[in-house]
Amino acid sequence: MHAIGIDIGGTKIAGALVDEDGEIVSETRVPTPTTTELIEDAVVSMVSVLAAGRNIDGVGVAAAGFIDAAQSTVYYAPNISWRNEPFQARLSARLDLPIVIDNDANAAGWAEFRYGAGRLFSDMVMLTIGTGVGGAIVTDDRLFRGGFGAGAELGHMRLIPDGHPCGCGQHGCLEQYGSGRALLRFANELADAGGIGQILADRRAEVGTLTGHDISELIVAGDGGAVAALRQLGSWLGQGCASLGAVLDPQLFVIGGGVAQAGDLLLEPIRASYLEHLPARGYHPEPEFRIAELVNNAGVVGAADLARVAARRTLPVEL
Ligand SMILES: [Zn+2]
Repeated sequence: MHAIGIDIGGTKIAGALVDEDGEIVSETRVPTPTTTELIEDAVVSMVSVLAAGRNIDGVGVAAAGFIDAAQSTVYYAPNISWRNEPFQARLSARLDLPIVIDNDANAAGWAEFRYGAGRLFSDMVMLTIGTGVGGAIVTDDRLFRGGFGAGAELGHMRLIPDGHPCGCGQHGCLEQYGSGRALLRFANELADAGGIGQILADRRAEVGTLTGHDISELIVAGDGGAVAALRQLGSWLGQGCASLGAVLDPQLFVIGGGVAQAGDLLLEPIRASYLEHLPARGYHPEPEFRIAELVNNAGVVGAADLARVAARRTLPVEL
């Protein structure tokens, strides 16, 4: 049986028909409309097109934000003006299919667990390093949501009391030290300092403002300043992983998102910092650290499979 995954991002909505092996059978995408009504219309028409002529297990919709434990109401979305939006009920009124709503980082993490870097493990933590830091936790083969559905917001775990201010209203969150935005801050600080950051400073003078693209280009070229900024990022992420390791004891940490394309250059400082900061070091089994495998499709593939999981859960007889 097939399921449909929809990933509502800040700039585009992606949709896909996905089979039970996590393979995409057909896909489509549109720019994200500006109003909530138009977003609803876009999702309904996308599902109708993808479902045409098929038996569908269910529809999973992933979006950034806090979603309730019943996978139906969006409490709050950072990019869309949803506040306590009963999105599942709105879609159900227009589509005759089982529908679940989930957090986008949860969907991406679930896809990695089912079909990607985590497929051989039962307990994993995924950190998605984009502009911010997204998180997903799988424990004992289940996605962890928390009591209210808003758990696993790993980007807002506090690293530094009274540290850098965060968009969430707090200070010192992991997101302020382990995100793509933090990488740019470190690179600019190194550029200001000169020395190892001289090439970063030269590039900044040339282009006006350093972008993620500039940093990744310089990392690939082996520039000492850009690599130092990445190592700084990895060191903070490793500290965050050490705290998570003490609580969750995962077998695996998966690092995803654009910055993860740096591969071992990022994993190596994360692992080193993890070991340095792990409580009871030397007596604690060491988890693996891997880069995410499903780079562009994780959101839709994970959302589709979460819909399938929910559909199975509501069957009258446990299979
Ligand atoms: Zn925060």
